[in-house]
Amino acid sequence: MKDSTAVFRTEKRRQIFWGSLAVLSFCVMLAAAGMARQAGTGKPVSGIPTGSVQEENTEDFEMPGDTEGSGAASGNSVSDEQMPAKPEGDAGGEDIKNEAVQGGEIEDEVPADNAAGENSEPEETPMIAFTFDDGPYTPVTNRIIDVLSEYGAGATFFVVGSRIEQYSDTLKRTYESGFEVASHTWSHDDLNKLSEDKIREEFERTEEKLNQYVPVGHVLARPPYGNANETVRSVADTALINWSLDSQDWKTRDSQSIIDHVLATVKDGDVILMHDLYECTAEAVEYLVPELMARGYRIVSVSELFASRGRELEKGEIYRNALE
Ligand code: ZN
Repeated sequence: MKDSTAVFRTEKRRQIFWGSLAVLSFCVMLAAAGMARQAGTGKPVSGIPTGSVQEENTEDFEMPGDTEGSGAASGNSVSDEQMPAKPEGDAGGEDIKNEAVQGGEIEDEVPADNAAGENSEPEETPMIAFTFDDGPYTPVTNRIIDVLSEYGAGATFFVVGSRIEQYSDTLKRTYESGFEVASHTWSHDDLNKLSEDKIREEFERTEEKLNQYVPVGHVLARPPYGNANETVRSVADTALINWSLDSQDWKTRDSQSIIDHVLATVKDGDVILMHDLYECTAEAVEYLVPELMARGYRIVSVSELFASRGRELEKGEIYRNALE
């Protein structure tokens, strides 16, 4: 009896040993399979745009007269860059004062929105549109496209018709990267001072030229300086998009000032005016995109902003903020 019990115990131990070994090796196999799967698919997605960006940058930097200074001083670019400055800013000035008053409240409210966004009631995510005027201007437009793409943000580029030919590659890249392309008229003149025929030509010529390079069809327009009197509105065959927040990049030409001003005054539904002409604007946008997203804002194009708030854009009407 003694012996047989001992044999039985030894046998039992052996069974336990081999059983555990089998379980252990199965676990090891599972783990190995899991790791192999991760290694196959776990690639970051964000690397894609970089290559093409660098190529295009290099190309454009080699072009004579393409730096900001000389770009500003040559041909069409001169008037485009110098002229928009004051009137566009002045037109937006009133809005800014109103917004500045509300600035404090807004900052307090944003975290609350964030908290609600995840679980409970579907309080709508605050949404804003980024808009860039007076381009394309390759070195700056490219930087802006890069950062917007990296964070999956949208924007509308209001392009000056007379610049399209020179910067057609950048226009194509803007469109192909999924951004909204729109019209900022052909010559960036003050439309209020032009005849009906001339106004019509400013819009039509730009739209035709845009469609020569990118299939945008009928586009939104922004009147230079935000100026659109009754005549302009009656001639316009599209909605006229002004802005509710002027970044004042044209005035301060300083990235920190742009950042401070936007963060202090931004609110839900805003259309933000910027210019893809200045390096300081690109620098500010590189900071603002992740920062505004961290504060709970979605950054989109003008069309997406208004559509998401159920606002139809009608021709001849002027729009500033999607909630007003
Ligand atoms: Zn402009």
